Amino acid sequence: MRAAILREPGRILVEDIPEPAPDEGEVVIRVKYALTDGTDLKAYLRGHHLIGYGPFGHEYSGIVAKVGKGVRKFKEGDAVMGVNTAPCMKCHFCRREMYSLCENLTKNMVLGTYAEYVRIPARVVEVNLFHKPEDISFRVAPMLEPLACVVRGVENLGEIRPGRRIMIVGTGSVAIMFAVLLKDRGDVFVAGRRIEALNRIRELVQVKTLLMGEGFTQKAMDLSGGYGFDIIIDATGSPRAMERALGILSKGGKFLVFSGVERGTTLSIDIHSLHYGEMSIVGSFHHTPDTVRRAIDILRKNHEKLDFLITHELPLERIEEAFRLMMEKKALKVAIRP
Ligand SMILES: [Zn+2]
Repeated sequence: MRAAILREPGRILVEDIPEPAPDEGEVVIRVKYALTDGTDLKAYLRGHHLIGYGPFGHEYSGIVAKVGKGVRKFKEGDAVMGVNTAPCMKCHFCRREMYSLCENLTKNMVLGTYAEYVRIPARVVEVNLFHKPEDISFRVAPMLEPLACVVRGVENLGEIRPGRRIMIVGTGSVAIMFAVLLKDRGDVFVAGRRIEALNRIRELVQVKTLLMGEGFTQKAMDLSGGYGFDIIIDATGSPRAMERALGILSKGGKFLVFSGVERGTTLSIDIHSLHYGEMSIVGSFHHTPDTVRRAIDILRKNHEKLDFLITHELPLERIEEAFRLMMEKKALKVAIRP
């Protein structure tokens, strides 16, 4: 079968590799669509500690092609969607119900969806693979994974009282997902450095926007009556953007570090303000079985808005072009058809 292989940073080859066969409890699916995302882009640009090199891609939808021994939930020909991992339920963190921190996530990981066929590990089949509802298209269905992560991010913010000022920093697909989820739950702004992207978000999601140019801090403080924002979500992964955004966090505010950054990245933080202002900095990584289930519902209700995030569609052989479009910020998400 044809599969995209990440050889080294900046180099993807589409090669012939053996078709996977399902082990006990596993299924193999014929991939209909795989979507690009920021994690894969990072892997393409500089490598990724959870992905490594080889077959990659983890957002998918497809048709069950082969079923391993003992699988009852699925049969050949079923239309399915799912996410990339499932918690083991046995490790230190799973026993504490902190499923996104499962120590065995990478042992139960779907990797290699930029291919004609992909193997789904038994834990994922059991917990996080679903029959695709008819009202969710094969094209949009792979968004279940990033959306479940965004739902987890919102969950990690705790209760959001009505009327709170929320700032989402970033103009990529994840920032837009946050905007879709939160727009009716507060006074929502999206901030970023590219004016065309902000205009598009304002039109698509009907939220307010703020350009992160000169005078950003002053404007943000003016917009919030001098208090700053109650909730700030970083969807850039840029330390510089984070530092600027932290400067407009209100007393009592929460700052969500959503986007992954390189190992060793540090920020200088004003601890005086953090302490006397009772501010919190919260991390969020991955998803849990619960947020995955909630994401299915959100996917259904916002199908059209989310389909809009797929700006390009390309065959597998042109996958490198997809990442170039992402890198040049010409594409939000690219749907790959293997
Ligand atoms: Zn675990």
